[in-house]
Amino acid sequence: MNKISVVALAAVAVLSAASPARAELNVITTTSDLAAIAADIGGDKVKVTSIARGYQDPHWVESKPSFMLLLNKAQLLVVIGRELEIAWLPALVTQSRNARIQPGAEGYLDASQNVKILDLPTGAVTRAMGDVHPSGNPHYWLDPQNGGRVAKAIAAKLAQLDAPNAAYYTQREADFARRLAEAQQRWKAQMAPYKGLKVVTYHRSWANFADAFGLEVVGYVEPKPGIPPTPQHTLDVINAMKAQGIKLILVEPYFDLKTPNSIASNSGGKVLVMPPSVGGVPQAGDYFKLFDYDLNLLLTAIKETGAK
Ligand SMILES: [Zn+2]
Repeated sequence: MNKISVVALAAVAVLSAASPARAELNVITTTSDLAAIAADIGGDKVKVTSIARGYQDPHWVESKPSFMLLLNKAQLLVVIGRELEIAWLPALVTQSRNARIQPGAEGYLDASQNVKILDLPTGAVTRAMGDVHPSGNPHYWLDPQNGGRVAKAIAAKLAQLDAPNAAYYTQREADFARRLAEAQQRWKAQMAPYKGLKVVTYHRSWANFADAFGLEVVGYVEPKPGIPPTPQHTLDVINAMKAQGIKLILVEPYFDLKTPNSIASNSGGKVLVMPPSVGGVPQAGDYFKLFDYDLNLLLTAIKETGAK
């Protein structure tokens, strides 16, 4: 850390010590999806800031000194876990010099503890499996059922850190669960006619989404998670799409469209740029709107292409 950051951190420490009893719990999340859920549960008792933006690849977030300052002031840090943030978060947390949010401390919440994790490795994990999913698929928030589990974990943690408002968080979590159950019924009904729909995706971001809504992901633009496309693999994907009549290629907004477009034009398929996170596009402004947006995008494309 340079001298300026140390001075800035010291100044922040003095300011927080001098301020009167806090009004809000200062919550930092690694991703915008966690921020959306935490804000929903915390209401006006929390101030929530996400480090990553919804249009960024959450595996690779560029560190900025401002993140360290955010973390220095945090009372709670919520992370996705499963090594999603391993490339950028550990150094920031260490450099934040905030004992409250170190892994294992009371103000550190790994949201993956009670969720359904897919693609869990069986046997020894090797680099050959890919670069970025060694502990199972970390994109679990794309199953709304898991979003409900994350909300429960956040509510319990907020109640623990801010006991006088425990009933407030419990009540808001119950309300979130009720709204989520209603929305899920609607989403599942929308997708029911297309059960078993085969798609190709760029990265393995959509395993839980496919699991929740009855899609079958039959191939990936990336040969392995985190490994860029190769000509041979691209050819295999084109052939698989032709052989199985697959029409849709889902691409996260932060990937280059060159290979997906080439796959689409060689297979008669269509590229769908689909945000996997809240804020990936302005319309996906909260956790519910993310699913509304993505499912609407998908349903429109299904009708356009006759995909099945
Ligand atoms: Zn990933």
